[in-house]
Amino acid sequence: MAEFSLSLSDDQLQIKNWIHEFAVDVIRPAAHEWDEREEFPWPIVQEAAKIGLYGIDFIMNAMGDASGLTLPVAIEEIFWGDAGIGMAIMGSGLAAAGIAGNGTPEQMMEWVPQCYGTADDVKLGAFCVSEPDAGSDVSSLRTRAVYDEANDEWVLNGTKAWITNGGIADIHVVVAAVDPELRGRGQASFIVPPKTKGLSQGQKYLKHGIRASHTAEVVLEDVRVPGRCLLGGKEKLDAKLARAREGGHAGGKQPAMATFEATRPAVGAQALGVARAAYEFALDYAKERKTFGKPIIMHQAIAFKLANMITEIDAARLLIWRAAWLAKNGGFKNAEGSQSKYYASEVAVRVTEDAIQILGGYGYTREYPVERWHRDAKIHTIFEGTSEIQQLVIARAISGMRIE
Ligand SMILES: Cc1cc2nc3c(=O)[nH]c(=O)nc-3n(C[C@H](O)[C@H](O)[C@H](O)COP(=O)(O)OP(=O)(O)OC[C@H]3O[C@@H](n4cnc5c(N)ncnc54)[C@H](O)[C@@H]3O)c2cc1C
Repeated sequence: MAEFSLSLSDDQLQIKNWIHEFAVDVIRPAAHEWDEREEFPWPIVQEAAKIGLYGIDFIMNAMGDASGLTLPVAIEEIFWGDAGIGMAIMGSGLAAAGIAGNGTPEQMMEWVPQCYGTADDVKLGAFCVSEPDAGSDVSSLRTRAVYDEANDEWVLNGTKAWITNGGIADIHVVVAAVDPELRGRGQASFIVPPKTKGLSQGQKYLKHGIRASHTAEVVLEDVRVPGRCLLGGKEKLDAKLARAREGGHAGGKQPAMATFEATRPAVGAQALGVARAAYEFALDYAKERKTFGKPIIMHQAIAFKLANMITEIDAARLLIWRAAWLAKNGGFKNAEGSQSKYYASEVAVRVTEDAIQILGGYGYTREYPVERWHRDAKIHTIFEGTSEIQQLVIARAISGMRIE
């Protein structure tokens, strides 16, 4: 077990500085353009791959760190650069986490590298859970997986909604109902390999924020995947279903939940990066902008806003680091992962709104980045479990009761 410490190792500091430099030199200067274009920023992701920031080695190294802190530290810097481009860089990580959370070591070795490709041939992964009628309520997925025993193949049918990298990914990890009557306990995750027939992109969503990140429907029509694409394997699934049918505890977690639990501190770190960007910008601006003969930071109303912003940002970082450490060292007790994601995302919305207020009219225009940060911050209270769902998870953890 690693000691919990707030001082980063030399390695972690080096990674932080290296990513910060990339964020300053490459991500920030490209942010406005890709937000306006509302397209996946291939050239930036390719550059990230060339320096080793987007790729299997980086993600395995960060996920393997015993202190758990490398990943949130890295993500904060990337998202400080830009959240839309940040999601384009980090989106495949959700698919990788879905494979790591539910697959065997052999399946991880086979499929996770294919979510990233190589520096010269970048690939993407997508994690497909949500559906038009099942977002927060993950237990009511309608996408079906039926086993064709004669051919040892699974046949997938359904429509997935809001999928990051949906349809443009090479690897789609799809969560589907094998036995819908068992709801969450009757679901399993499947790999849909590159160029599989029957998988297509539906509508691409036009969004409020993180517009450089591609979000689309994924349509599955008689998609056939080999038996080995069932994450965790058939024996494990059969045993789980049998236990669930007997009414006992299914053992093992609902497949999407197992993934989200592990990724929540990372999502908190995304929000934190956006919040810090807005705070730093507003602080500099408040020192420069003068009204009534003095810099606006000399007005207590502005100074106190900034004092609150940094206090909440630091508190969010502490929650994220604690959760990231606990995820690797002993596990959560009071849904600390959810606490960190919930708090950091709400802080990001508040801080970016205050940043607009500090910039006044300028803050409301697209000439300055704070309005974009405000739009980008908002997604964090919605995806990977809304704020209300995080509150529900925390309330259940502290009470041990099935609060609805
Ligand atoms: C940009 C973007 C990217 C996304 N990427 C992915 C992805 O890669 N993969 C994926 O699978 N999904 C993805 N999603 C989907 C996302 O996770 C869902 O949108 C989210 O879980 C909310 O589901 P919903 O939109 O159906 O809202 P609903 O579940 O319909 O919720 C509507 C409102 O009701 C509240 N609510 C619902 N149930 C309760 C309750 N029990 N108690 C209190 N309040 C409740 C919610 O908090 C929310 O405020 C993405 C979404 C967006 C917008």
